Amino acid sequence: MDPEVRPSRGAEEYVPAAIEELAGRLKFSFPTGHIWLGEERMILLHKAAFGSFRKELVNTLGMDRARGVLTRMGFAAGTRDAELVRRLYPNSSDSDVLLRGPLLHTLQGIAKVEPIRLDVDLAKGHCFADVIWVNSFEADVHHQLFGVEPGSCCWMQVGYASGFVSGLMRKFVLFDEIECGTEQCHIIGKPLEEWDAKEAEPLMKYFDAEPLADQLLELQHQVRTLRYSIDEALEPGDLVGSSPAFRSAWDLLKRAARSQITVLLLGETGVGKEMFARALHKTSSRSHAPFIAVNCGALPEQLVESELFGVQQGAYTGAQQSRPGRFERAHGGTLFLDEVAELPATAQTKLLRVLQEGELERVGDTRTREVDVRVVAATNVDLEEAVRNGRFRKDLYYRLNVFPVRIAPLRERKEDISVLADRFIEKYTAREGKRILGVTDKALQALKNYAWPGNVRELENMVERGVLLAPNDGRIDVADLFSVLPVDHGLEKTTSLDLQGKLQCCAPDPMERLAEIFIEKKLTLDDVEASLMKSVLDRCEMNISAAAKQLGITRSQLRYRLKQKGIASADEAE
Ligand SMILES: [Zn+2]
Repeated sequence: MDPEVRPSRGAEEYVPAAIEELAGRLKFSFPTGHIWLGEERMILLHKAAFGSFRKELVNTLGMDRARGVLTRMGFAAGTRDAELVRRLYPNSSDSDVLLRGPLLHTLQGIAKVEPIRLDVDLAKGHCFADVIWVNSFEADVHHQLFGVEPGSCCWMQVGYASGFVSGLMRKFVLFDEIECGTEQCHIIGKPLEEWDAKEAEPLMKYFDAEPLADQLLELQHQVRTLRYSIDEALEPGDLVGSSPAFRSAWDLLKRAARSQITVLLLGETGVGKEMFARALHKTSSRSHAPFIAVNCGALPEQLVESELFGVQQGAYTGAQQSRPGRFERAHGGTLFLDEVAELPATAQTKLLRVLQEGELERVGDTRTREVDVRVVAATNVDLEEAVRNGRFRKDLYYRLNVFPVRIAPLRERKEDISVLADRFIEKYTAREGKRILGVTDKALQALKNYAWPGNVRELENMVERGVLLAPNDGRIDVADLFSVLPVDHGLEKTTSLDLQGKLQCCAPDPMERLAEIFIEKKLTLDDVEASLMKSVLDRCEMNISAAAKQLGITRSQLRYRLKQKGIASADEAE
């Protein structure tokens, strides 16, 4: 017998274990209302609902165009499943990987798929598939709506098969339904170049967006481009968002941009105060002049004044040359003073004078210089309290606080997470020279569930890490983003299917998820031990006795293991 022909009996034997394994990845999370297949969010859809959708599609677009839409819809689903399979089974043989497509189709209730022949060599770019569908759901729906007609009617399913195999092969594989009936359907697929052009051409049109759709897409694109160019004017750089919290802050800033008013930005660390300040500058009439940013908290106290206001030669030992300060360098433009509460008392006095009089004297100089600078100050501390404690000048506070704008923390503008993540993915894929398709549904859910103590900056760092770890041409998953898995995600109580198709409640088993991650990331027992010891030590503030107690071993056992792995601890000096 031809060894490449997989007898259907053999395939059937293979099916139960593999499909049980796939079914185990289908998780129902009732507390959150999610159904997960791996990291893809799935839905249960009524066949009848799909039927009315199909009917409406045919009525509005006509049979041929409706076929195109559904084919492409199936193609999209197929490529997503191909991605899923590539991620879940990186070490499986080519034919096992290819067989996962029919199994997923079966699991998803589309049809019972019986491969007659699946012959594939990913490296050589060769494949041939000959498959029978029993109980095709689409044939069922179509026949109910339009009666039995000759020709293919399993459009979405054919699209799926093409999408799945093309996704695996990374080249276009065309499928044709050569028999479509109430009993069974029969499809074959091979790479496009192996088809006879005359056969392929009439099928190919369903995979390309049609002229009507093209025109709509083109118009949509134009609208988007226009909106983007308007948005660009409104939201330069990394400043993106549509949440009410973002919009109200940005609306206030746009109004401030038109005037010369001093602005005070309030908000936690990492919310992007400097980005807002830059955006304010770019949209103001001062945009042609410099934008200078100073972190007052990062300047050594003895240098603050000379840095801000400049220094005259010979003012102090070491002042070899006269030089202008940041105020003079920002002349005509905008000066951003971050962590303004950290300014020492003398600098506060000088700052107040610039704000009131528009003039300053360099350190060690008697000449008064005029400067025209708009000040945007920012702080993450309560300035009123600093005033009460005598750490901040009251008059300066009033002078700065004329136009306060609060930038909301990321946890209050979760609607923006997805668009911010996309922006950062764009930025880091360009830098890493990688192609990433986005984040998985589950990863996006995890991002939305997370509390974001480090705000937008933390999100950016996390996406940077994700871009680095995610496979090329793949999606960023939960484990790529979080170095320690978020407690409220991936570990939620789920329900899954057993082989009989009955729901079984699984107690949340974090160990199983943990084990999965270790296998996915190809970690060794040594890696696991080392990272566990490090995390526990961190949490115990490097105290070995406390960490040992937590790990259930003696202090000397822990010390020995740490030494073996070359991990430092606080009392290693003993
Ligand atoms: Zn069919």
